[in-house]
Amino acid sequence: MRLASRSVLTLGSCSRCTAGVYSIEWNGIRLWSAACGPATSSVPEKLHVCIVGSGPAGFYTVDRLLKRYGDRVHVSILDRLPTPFGLVRSGVAPDHQDTKNVTNQFSSLATDPRVSFLGNVLVGRDVDISELRALHHAVVLAYGAESDRRLGIPGEDDPTTSTSALRWSRGGGGVFSAREFVWWYNGHPDARHLPIDLSKVRSVAICGIGNVALDCARVLLSPPDRFTPTDLAAHALRQSGSPLGSAVREVHLVARRGPVQAACTPKELKELLTECGVSARTAAPDQLTVSEADAAEMKATRLKRRVYELVSKAQQQQQGRSRRDLFFQFYRNPVEVLRGPDGGVAGIRVERTVVRPDGPGGTAVAVGSGVYDTIECQLVLKSIGYKSLPLHGVAFDNRRGVIPNLEGRVLKQVRACVSTCDEGLYVVGWLKRGPTGIIGTNLVDAEETVACVAADTDALLRAGEKTHGSAGPPGLAGLTALLRQRGVRVVDWRRWRLLDEHEVAAGRAAGRVREKETEVKEMLRVCGFSME
Ligand code: NAP
Repeated sequence: MRLASRSVLTLGSCSRCTAGVYSIEWNGIRLWSAACGPATSSVPEKLHVCIVGSGPAGFYTVDRLLKRYGDRVHVSILDRLPTPFGLVRSGVAPDHQDTKNVTNQFSSLATDPRVSFLGNVLVGRDVDISELRALHHAVVLAYGAESDRRLGIPGEDDPTTSTSALRWSRGGGGVFSAREFVWWYNGHPDARHLPIDLSKVRSVAICGIGNVALDCARVLLSPPDRFTPTDLAAHALRQSGSPLGSAVREVHLVARRGPVQAACTPKELKELLTECGVSARTAAPDQLTVSEADAAEMKATRLKRRVYELVSKAQQQQQGRSRRDLFFQFYRNPVEVLRGPDGGVAGIRVERTVVRPDGPGGTAVAVGSGVYDTIECQLVLKSIGYKSLPLHGVAFDNRRGVIPNLEGRVLKQVRACVSTCDEGLYVVGWLKRGPTGIIGTNLVDAEETVACVAADTDALLRAGEKTHGSAGPPGLAGLTALLRQRGVRVVDWRRWRLLDEHEVAAGRAAGRVREKETEVKEMLRVCGFSME
């Protein structure tokens, strides 16, 4: 066993004082202090931390904890899926394999003796958050954003039902969030059955012009050789015909504001415009018009200027229609998803906008003009931002879609001050700050949250001792005992490696990076569980 549930460190060198108080400091962090007992008095050997979610935020938190605490910590990192890495596996585009290399770093963290991975454990089903908190000194929530912002417009939902069966019968298109589409092409088990059939879709409207929208556009428009060698899910690759078997001929990137306010970054935009064989242009020439304020913004911000230049250049270079067209629909706010007689998507109605500095602090907002256009399409992807889901027993800010926190310390209420922190509970990543930033942003974020854990160490150890006696909470040993008792099929790192090797071998046989398993049941079978 890696960690005895009641293992303690006997202090031979505590700094006793006549006032009867001693403390342990490690790496400059006050780990423990208490009323001085006999020379043989003992303190918990380790701080037991449980992280919920094994995406980039979770693994960077592991990294920071190990660096801060050395041997005086044990970290259990949980995932609801049998697979680790969260957004890196299910979010990063398959043609961005370099970005996925960060999993090498995460894998070495997971094999560290101070760390245990527990996959296929769903908090709320297999174990409650209150139980996790009772078993550990600290719990860090890092389960990301698994839902979506809504447009809130007519036609966004299926007119009669949202069941997959009916959406399927409506010709392969429909309205999906970009997260659903990204999960679908990345083989996330929850999205494998989405009724998307690109062989029946000629035109797609993507609402929003952030980097996720560009990922979706690349997948829809690129020639097949871009994705065939990658780990794009086989069901997405298999669709008949060319590029992903799709009939897609045009993609409309619908942005409610102008090119200067586009949320995407120049590197990703250039990749779409230069590497994917598309002919790109604005849907109407005046969509490149910019105000004086925009011109000033471009002068001040190189990234904004670069995005504008890329769109202008594409406009100048375009030579009529091509096999695959990309249309920038700037200054167009979606107001309704239009449905055909059978309920299937027929188009999206947009209102032309002007951008004015009417937002808080003079920020540029889109103001409707009362003039409307229709973009014909069979598939609408809402790429307007992810949203986190609440966890029973933990405060949640529904408006912002995050867990309320102060620098990573979870608050008991949405609007609260530091005195109402939920002791021992922390948050990191998109769940903490909202769905922004690249994978590396989570490193800085994790540093901030772990700094709070470190500052609270004294109190955490004291609380653990008060409840559990001098040995403190049982941590991993207690958690695995509980899960075993409940019959949970826990995928530890050894079992995940069986699945990992299986996927890589299957991919190699097909000349691909990896052939992903997309069904949890099959994943567990490959992980060595009997599925009787
Ligand atoms: P995002 O960058 O926040 O973009 C959201 C887009 O949705 C914006 O164009 C926004 O327009 C629009 N939008 C929001 N609400 C809307 C509404 N009600 N109606 C119409 N449009 C609306 O979000 P994202 O693309 O999901 O990306 C999330 C984060 O992941 C970003 O930080 C992104 O850079 C990162 N990411 C990075 C990469 C990469 O580096 N390769 C890849 C994927 C994602 P307004 O600006 O007008 O609000």
